[in-house]
Amino acid sequence: MAKKMKLKKEAKKFGGIAILILCILIISCIFGIKTYREYKYKQTYEYKLIEHGYSLENAKKLVSYFKNSSKIDSILSISRNEKILDLIKEKYYIHNHLERYLAYLDTHKDTSYKDVVAIVNVNRDYDFYEHDIDSKTSDNELLIVNKYYTLNADFNPENLVTINNQYAYENNQITEEANDAYVSMWHAAKEAGIQLIVNSSYRNYQDQEDVYNSIKQSKGEREADKVAARPGHSEHQSGLAIDVFEIHNQLTGTFQDSPAYAWLKENAYLYGYIERYPEDKEYLTGYSFESWHWRYVGLEAAKVIHEEGITYDEYYAYYIENQAE
Ligand SMILES: [Zn+2]
Repeated sequence: MAKKMKLKKEAKKFGGIAILILCILIISCIFGIKTYREYKYKQTYEYKLIEHGYSLENAKKLVSYFKNSSKIDSILSISRNEKILDLIKEKYYIHNHLERYLAYLDTHKDTSYKDVVAIVNVNRDYDFYEHDIDSKTSDNELLIVNKYYTLNADFNPENLVTINNQYAYENNQITEEANDAYVSMWHAAKEAGIQLIVNSSYRNYQDQEDVYNSIKQSKGEREADKVAARPGHSEHQSGLAIDVFEIHNQLTGTFQDSPAYAWLKENAYLYGYIERYPEDKEYLTGYSFESWHWRYVGLEAAKVIHEEGITYDEYYAYYIENQAE
């Protein structure tokens, strides 16, 4: 009997200890989970952004915009700047340009965010001819040539054809695709009562050098840069550009008021052509308004450019270069 009592007592004692151990285990478990959670949270971009000075709300916005990607590291590597929150709202925001956007904003406080993004995307935060990039000729009809992108002296388009005399003055050449598209466009314009004519098209590096140098010699570099592209920087070297007029009106000064120009503005994209240097876009293209200069880019790009009302320079930056990165 006494033995039984003793056993009961022992069991009670062990039970108590077991409960105590269990309690300790549960408590430390809860504590452990809590610390682990805290540790994990500290690893998140949300926490790091808050530590960097952003509000919880803004940290959440940045995390959601960048889908928690490592792109946030570059935001953490520069000082806190609330302007980033506005910049990322811009449709053509390119993350690689973030620091250049911010630098441009610092010196151009009255420029809209939309313009800042556009200007930096097309490299206009650099001086003309002082930031040379080789044009990627493998882009074919989507290659870009401007005051930043250069074609080599020996670049000649592979498939040049001579435009038939019915559609152009003699000795005008463009690439085969550009020519096919132009001929279709020419006939559509004719149906609308407009007779187009090309008076300038492919020009090789040497020709452009001659044009540029003769102006430079007579009027100086500054004047030459205003009216002509430097060799390697003319879109005419690509074989994708045409200077097109209406047969009865070939004055550069009045072409912009002609029905032919109005027709091209409305319809050229349906044939893969775009207006390359539109009015009021000199701050992006680097060229003053040239109503007669049209560029073949293919149907897909022409449609986007037409519908979104952007220049080719902006299109190239956002839809080609940025996508390739
Ligand atoms: Zn031209």
